[in-house]
Amino acid sequence: MNAPISRPVPRPGILDIDAYVPGKSKASGAGKLFKLSSNETPLGASPKAIAAFHAAAETLEFYPDGGATVLRNAIGRATGLSPDRIVCGCGSDELLHLIAQAYLGPGDEGLYSEYGFLVYPIVIRAVGATPVVAPEKNYRTDVDALLAAVTAKTKVIFLANPNNPTGSYIPFDEVRRLHAALPPHVVLVLDAAYAEYVQKNDYESGIELVSSSDNVVMTRTFSKIYGLANLRIGWLYGPDHIVDVLDRIRGPFNMTGPAIAAGAAAVEDREFTRAAAEHNAIWLPKLSAGLEAIGLTVLPSVGNFILALFPDEDGKRAPDADAFLLAHNIIVRRMDSYGLPNALRITVGSAQANEAVIAALTDFLR
Ligand SMILES: *Cc1c(COP(=O)(O)O)cnc(C)c1O
Repeated sequence: MNAPISRPVPRPGILDIDAYVPGKSKASGAGKLFKLSSNETPLGASPKAIAAFHAAAETLEFYPDGGATVLRNAIGRATGLSPDRIVCGCGSDELLHLIAQAYLGPGDEGLYSEYGFLVYPIVIRAVGATPVVAPEKNYRTDVDALLAAVTAKTKVIFLANPNNPTGSYIPFDEVRRLHAALPPHVVLVLDAAYAEYVQKNDYESGIELVSSSDNVVMTRTFSKIYGLANLRIGWLYGPDHIVDVLDRIRGPFNMTGPAIAAGAAAVEDREFTRAAAEHNAIWLPKLSAGLEAIGLTVLPSVGNFILALFPDEDGKRAPDADAFLLAHNIIVRRMDSYGLPNALRITVGSAQANEAVIAALTDFLR
């Protein structure tokens, strides 16, 4: 006879999860702090979104609209997409969990790329499925490696395009090539959290591929360019049958009223979003060039962050730089959990923040 179990035990796979480690938000010193650890925007949220959030405070006693109709309609107007094919979630993280819940289970494999976003293994393991990792070439998604890793057990592929933390992207003909070679029952998740920042002619977020196929979804977020990370708003565009499935399993009130109202106002404030993209277009290359000029290797990025690789020399490695920056009130992200212990991810900040990063790392490497 088996010994009696003395306390509840989670399902297989749960205790294999390394909890996601968010970027730090505090440093020890006094004075102005530059938080460049979570790819948040330095420009705050649209004043119109903030006003809508305040107005929503008047009706906190009522349950929100479970269909987030105002927000889905606003996204529909801004993008030309049918609101019927949009699902909103408590951040795109929730949508990734819902996809895993619906399409992955024990014995199935969820596939992603070597330096892919670390939420993917969490959502895969959370449902008892097996994470499978395809190697990258030059810190970039390798479509052939992904395809080589597809087995009869593969049910979902998670692809961040652009990817966090590498900042790299694959051109859309590569995404199409990946999709074309997949068995039709595999769900391809295109996580386009940074799509609004990309300024490349060969990039597409995935809207067309979703519209023209039965097994592709695109996820988007209000946490990055819209500056609403604190409200937790994500959305997914997918085929009717997948939208129907996700609507069955999501919490009936998974979006708060203030989030619905602020999100709708934010997506309509195109001037604000344009200015945010412009700020990034100026500072992404300046920050990259500034750090390359002092001898760091900076991976080419199309997002609102860069990945900097440090020298393999005592006192000059990424952990040393991280400590030095922290002492100068600059918080960036260590990449140990991604298997990149000698890299730091640095979010593009305000002009003042970016200049402070370059100045501090110049001192550090001297
Ligand atoms: C920031 C980020 C998200 C957004 O997550 P939310 O839950 O919407 O805040 C999604 N995917 C990637 C790759 C990200 O970097």
